[in-house]
Amino acid sequence: MRVENKVVIITGAASGIGRQTALTFSQEGAKVVVADLNETGGRAIVEEIERAGGEAFFARLDVSNREQSKQVVKDTLERFGKIDVLINNAGINQDALVSKMTEEQWDKVITIDLKGPFNCIQAVVDAMTEHGTGEIINVSSIVGLYGNIGQTNYAAAKAGLIGMTKTLAKELGKKGIRVNAVAPGFIATPMTAGVPDKILEMMKEKTPLRRLGQPDDIANALLYLASDEANFVNGAVLSVDGGLLI
Ligand code: NAP
Repeated sequence: MRVENKVVIITGAASGIGRQTALTFSQEGAKVVVADLNETGGRAIVEEIERAGGEAFFARLDVSNREQSKQVVKDTLERFGKIDVLINNAGINQDALVSKMTEEQWDKVITIDLKGPFNCIQAVVDAMTEHGTGEIINVSSIVGLYGNIGQTNYAAAKAGLIGMTKTLAKELGKKGIRVNAVAPGFIATPMTAGVPDKILEMMKEKTPLRRLGQPDDIANALLYLASDEANFVNGAVLSVDGGLLI
C-alpha cells in the first residue's frame, strides 16, 4: 500500500481524473475526502469506495468559496484527525478566442482554476504545519506550459498554478510540506468528451505514444507524488502527456 492511512482531500473528485484518483488512492490505503460541487457523482464514488472496504466521505465544495474550503478542512479533521495530502484537481474551461472572450469567461476560469487552489491551500496549511508534514499537488495542464489557441483564461490559470506551486514549494518546504504539480496532456474525461473525433485522431497522431491519456495515467502520477517514494520531490511539474509536446 503506497499511501496507507494517509488522509487525502481531492477536489473535483466526482468525475474524470479526480474520480479515478479517489479510487486509486483508496485502493492504496488512503482515507479519501471526495470534495466536489457534484453531489450525486460524489456520493456514488464514496459508495463505490465503501463497497470495496475503503473509507471515504463526500464534502460539498465549490473551490471558489473560501468558507466552504475552510469547512471541508474542519470536517476532515473532525472525521479523520489529520490531513496528509491535498490534491487541487477541480477545474473548468470556457474557451473563446481572445477577441471574443467575455469578462465573465475570464473571471470564472481564473476564480475556479487559480483562486480555487489558493483557497484550499490556505485552508489546509495550518493543519499540515501543525502536523509537521504534508503534500499538496496541483493539477495544472500542458496548456499552462505551452499555451493553446482559444484558452487565454485557462492557460493563464494553469500557468499561474505552476508559479504558485514553485513559490509554495519554497515557502512551505521548511515546514515539511512538499508542493508539486502535474501537467496532464490530453486525457479522455467528460471535460474532453465533446472534442470532435477528427481532433482526437490528430492528437493521437501527434503523441509519440499514439494514444490519448486515461484518468489512471494521471491518478498514478498523483499517487507517486503523494507517496513517500517522492519524499525529496518538491516544486516539480511532472508532465504526463505521452510526450505530446517534445
Ligand atoms: P471533469 O471530468 O470535468 O471533472 C471536473 C470535476 O470538477 C467535476 O466533477 C466538476 O463538477 C468539478 N468542479 C467544477 N467546478 C468546481 C468547483 N468550483 N468546485 C469544486 N468542484 C468543481 O474534468 P477532468 O478532465 O477530470 O479535469 C480534472 C482536472 O484536470 C482539471 O483541473 C483540468 O483542468 C485538468 N486537466 C484536464 C485535462 C484533460 O484533458 N481532461 C488536461 C489537462 C488538465 P461538475 O461536473 O458539477 O462541474
